[in-house]
Amino acid sequence: MQRIAVISAHTSPLAPLGYRETGGMNVYVRELSREMGRRGYLIDVFTRRAEPDGPAVIEASPNVRVVHLQAGPEGIEGRRELYTHLRDFEDDLLAFQRAEGVVYDVIHSHYWLSGLLGLRLRERWGAPLVSMFHTLGELKRRANGGSNEPVARIEVERRVAREADVVVCASEHEKRALVEIYGAPAERIAVVPCGVDLGRFRPLDKEMARRSLGLNGERMILFVGRMEPLKGLDILLGAAAHLDDEPAFRVLVVGGDSLPADGRGNATDEVSHLKGLSAELGIADRVSFTGPVGHDRLPLYYSAADVCVVPSYYESFCLVALEAMACGTPVVASRVGGLSVTVRDGETGYLVSHQAPQPFAERVATLLADEDLRHSFGKTASEAASGFGWGNVAEAIEAIYHRLLASPTDSLTAGPTIER
Ligand code: UDP
Repeated sequence: MQRIAVISAHTSPLAPLGYRETGGMNVYVRELSREMGRRGYLIDVFTRRAEPDGPAVIEASPNVRVVHLQAGPEGIEGRRELYTHLRDFEDDLLAFQRAEGVVYDVIHSHYWLSGLLGLRLRERWGAPLVSMFHTLGELKRRANGGSNEPVARIEVERRVAREADVVVCASEHEKRALVEIYGAPAERIAVVPCGVDLGRFRPLDKEMARRSLGLNGERMILFVGRMEPLKGLDILLGAAAHLDDEPAFRVLVVGGDSLPADGRGNATDEVSHLKGLSAELGIADRVSFTGPVGHDRLPLYYSAADVCVVPSYYESFCLVALEAMACGTPVVASRVGGLSVTVRDGETGYLVSHQAPQPFAERVATLLADEDLRHSFGKTASEAASGFGWGNVAEAIEAIYHRLLASPTDSLTAGPTIER
């Protein structure tokens, strides 16, 4: 049985979702690990211990352990500070590995901080490194939302992108960015679209979903995601202010609340800002902020919605769009990053090229006014999403591991592109 060291240093796959710092990457690491464990790999996910009294090792699913490392003093907040304690993380990880007496066959890192750890561990162990960034600092910066990013981030990303044995990314768009902006060798990049739990995210009866959420006859416009400016909620609220009163509608904003995730500002600040904006726009009575909702209940929200809006300034992939589609809900999204492939313009929803309220309002209004169109988009959306199970992702990742383990010296010349 092969052993994989998965590094997710700054956030745990077991963390509650929907807060400012927990979203797609947590889901990705959790679901991929589960699938790989199911396939017989022994997976250790290394992450930083967030709660001093929590257990150090948790069996998350068959063959999958989440190992919480101390990694420096208690009370480290956020990624910036963790960056200065990466040596502590590495030391604790090595101590765990020695105490267990295990050898890892592959290192699989997630996000830039873990990518750097991955390079260091590869140097010690000689095991190949598979790295995934999830988001790239330079792309965030260009989308105007990354001003808060640590200075070291882009330099580290450049190194990892150039030196990892394989870089996995979720879209051709990100592959291009890795090659053209970061100088990564194209032949070592594998494009593997993200997945969705198709057993959980499926179309539920709309009326039942609406009743169980206590909704009345209003049309429902749904947003799901972390509360951060890059998600473009200002655009959605602006769009809602442009909509006619008929049909009556409600904007439901799911995600993020008061868990301060770093020392600089937290999701509560963002929510109060957005509530203020709704009031300024005169739509406060049309917008409900639910706070975070777990994956177990999210299918109800997606199924109850008439349209799911993803107005992000940038997304490398966007699980939310895929989850909504899997539940048979049309998506109106920005034409950015991976979204421009996941959402099929005029078939499963609409892609909006101008990130401004008016064009979003027009597309949303079209859908709200036309039930047949919503049905037909929704049906096509759930069919399109059915090709994106986590099993497919695991299969592609397994092929990468196989190749690396079969001929490590060839690893530098292989990089499948999984088309879907
Ligand atoms: N999410 C959740 N509850 C919330 C808000 C978000 O479970 O209240 C989940 C959502 O279902 C999705 C993930 O967080 O699986 C967000 O992933 P996405 O790729 O859309 O965005 P990211 O967080 O990577 O920017």
